[in-house]
Amino acid sequence: MAQKILIVEDEANIAQLLHLYLEKEGYETQIAPDGGKAVELFRSFAPDLVLLDVMLPVMDGWSVLKKIREEGKTPVIMLTAKGETDDKITGLEQGADDYIVKPFETKEVLARIRAVLRRTMGEEENAGGKKLSFDKLVINLDAYELMVDGKRIDTPPKELELLYHLASAPNRVFTRNQLLDEVWGFDYFGDSRTVDVHIKRLREKLEGVSEAWSLKTVWGVGYKFEVTGS
Ligand code: CA
Repeated sequence: MAQKILIVEDEANIAQLLHLYLEKEGYETQIAPDGGKAVELFRSFAPDLVLLDVMLPVMDGWSVLKKIREEGKTPVIMLTAKGETDDKITGLEQGADDYIVKPFETKEVLARIRAVLRRTMGEEENAGGKKLSFDKLVINLDAYELMVDGKRIDTPPKELELLYHLASAPNRVFTRNQLLDEVWGFDYFGDSRTVDVHIKRLREKLEGVSEAWSLKTVWGVGYKFEVTGS
């Protein structure tokens, strides 16, 4: 059965372009031209993923995202205007899975959609086993073990948890606050420098090990575990 994508976009030509392109790629799509219609279609169409523009009539993208998150974990990719870094951070912290900056190429949109769907499906399939493997890297959260190029590297638990968290969603950008909340917990009394320090220590262990992945800083936003060629 075709996967369903809800396109929330008030600019008709962009919406049409995405609709035609994604249908050609085998997805079933519907278009919501405003925020109100988006919430309506989210319920009746039950999409597997939502492409969500931020600036919308009736109800903006943030309000729509909030409604969607009240009902579940359906992946959402925000479409943000160029240069609005604040939008990216707000979106990620409010539970968006990724963002795409306009103007975009349809090819990029497709790649992001596939990555997000693969990731969210993978999470469901892998529930239970907490071991991630990449080229010359195994992060085992069951045994609290980090294997780098075949050797076991002593790693404090929080560092390992942080790396696991980033690597479990390859190429997804996390803000420092998200990482603090999700790895250290809401009640942790610390600031975002804690994250920077842990990333620095991880980098010392992981620098130059493989070309296939790296811990990247996304300027003005946060960090990601980048996997190339996937
Ligand atoms: Ca718009």
